[in-house]
Amino acid sequence: MSEDRALSELEASFAGDLVPPDDATYDRHRAVWNGSIDRHPALIARCIRASDVSAAVTFARRIGLPLAIKGGGHSFPGQSVCDDGIVIDLGEMKGIDIDPQARTARAEAGVLLGELDHETQAYGLAVPAGIVTHTGLAGLTLGGGIGWLQRKYGLTIDQLLSVDLITAEGELVKRVKPRTPISSGASAAEAGTSASSPSSSSTSTRSVRIWLPGRCSGRLRSRRTCCASTGIGSPRRRTI
Ligand SMILES: Cc1cc2nc3c(=O)[nH]c(=O)nc-3n(C[C@H](O)[C@H](O)[C@H](O)COP(=O)(O)OP(=O)(O)OC[C@H]3O[C@@H](n4cnc5c(N)ncnc54)[C@H](O)[C@@H]3O)c2cc1C
Repeated sequence: MSEDRALSELEASFAGDLVPPDDATYDRHRAVWNGSIDRHPALIARCIRASDVSAAVTFARRIGLPLAIKGGGHSFPGQSVCDDGIVIDLGEMKGIDIDPQARTARAEAGVLLGELDHETQAYGLAVPAGIVTHTGLAGLTLGGGIGWLQRKYGLTIDQLLSVDLITAEGELVKRVKPRTPISSGASAAEAGTSASSPSSSSTSTRSVRIWLPGRCSGRLRSRRTCCASTGIGSPRRRTI
């Protein structure tokens, strides 16, 4: 298939923004946390739904361009941006769904840690995650995820229940469950990390009950619990 035809098909099906190098916002969207990374992708696909991710993966495969997936953009070596390829930018995918009864959280791939904390803390819950609020949840989970709650609840990936995946063929596979148990009562995720699974569009994790100022909840109360990555409470409360 020709590049022009592949691009036309992408434009026809893409609901988010496609940002080429001559776009006024190009420099803003190719930037990542590490300011020394200065890469120039051929196109930035700013996705707003899973089908956008699928369309962008399909486009890159058809014309043989490299892909980079950008969540929170915190990769220190800049793995979420590439030269002369497609950046799939998931930063606009911010959906979060909390089930307070089941104590689970479902988050889209652009959710940052502080944004997840903001929603879970409304229920006195927290997903064990990282320390800095503007780190991406998906990237952090794929790397394991260490943070304030780690010593009591383990890594973020230990709490991962399932992911929705876009395969290298551009197919959406819903609710892929982890296959390898890491520790008792916890799950590991191969999902999202294998070569045939370039991108996860959302993740579902367990959350734990935490203490909030003015909202003590039963078992885990007062100083034996800790603040999560939004920094609610003082770091001195971090005494688990
Ligand atoms: C200031 C700072 C603080 C940090 N604090 C912590 C911490 O407290 N705890 C901790 O464990 N780590 C921490 N890290 C490390 C951080 O978790 C990793 O750098 C992580 O990869 C960042 O994820 P991201 O989505 O923000 O970054 P990105 O650069 O967007 O992504 C990182 C990697 O994951 C891939 N990726 C991202 N989203 C997806 C997806 N949906 N599907 C497939 N691949 C994806 C990207 O392609 C890239 O290879 C910190 C890093 C920084 C810079």
